[in-house]
Amino acid sequence: MMESFHLLTLLSRNKMSKKFHNKTCVYCNQRKSIRQGDHVFARKFFLEEERNNLIKVPACDICNNEKSKIEHYLTTVLPFGGRHIDAKTNLSVNVPSRLNKNKKLTRHLEGNRGYLDCDPTTGENGRTLTLPFDGEKYVKLFEFILKALVWHHWGLYISQDTIVYSTSLSKFGEELFEKHIFSLRCENRIINVLGKNTFRYTGIQIPEDKQTTLWLFEVYNGFVTAEDTSFTKEYSDCTLAMSGDKKTIDSFMELFTRNNKK
Ligand SMILES: [Zn+2]
Repeated sequence: MMESFHLLTLLSRNKMSKKFHNKTCVYCNQRKSIRQGDHVFARKFFLEEERNNLIKVPACDICNNEKSKIEHYLTTVLPFGGRHIDAKTNLSVNVPSRLNKNKKLTRHLEGNRGYLDCDPTTGENGRTLTLPFDGEKYVKLFEFILKALVWHHWGLYISQDTIVYSTSLSKFGEELFEKHIFSLRCENRIINVLGKNTFRYTGIQIPEDKQTTLWLFEVYNGFVTAEDTSFTKEYSDCTLAMSGDKKTIDSFMELFTRNNKK
């Protein structure tokens, strides 16, 4: 019995590795992928029992490494802001060993942390921890993720001349997205929830120009970031990612920033 079990395992492994064999990397669209697929949403973001069947795409080693560095940082820092049902478990089970392995990051977080007397998003009393956060790494990750999801859901490579842009979005921007963008009549529409709200995303592809896509992401049920340490003014709890030509991206950005300022 054991032998036939082992044989089955081997066959299934071979099948997995061939899935992406000789496919082009979805991130740089240049190099052929030479290893197994990349997990679009890194396994480390999830609790162990939620790591099965995560989305994978073909990726070259160079892009894979670049993305991994960003993921290492984010899977260590982001759990502190988690607001989903797994938040406490994720923070206590997964984060301590990551902090232990990265003393420099640990010192940086400890040296720059702050406290607020309430949760500015709900107004509830209680001590709230604030931590420094490298937003550039975060938006860069979603530029990777956009390309991967366009390939995964619609089988399309984002071309080298297409601009991919990601930015954090305020609550107001999110409402605007739902109202004006996501309500557009459009067949190619994706809504997906991974883990227990570890990631939630919605995306659309514009039928007339398939390189134009818009995505809204919420991580850990909407962890909160702000440019100001008081968190009282504009804060963000979701992320917008877009692909398209320069004119299209500019017009979307104008829509979101113009309305944000009002
Ligand atoms: Zn690549």
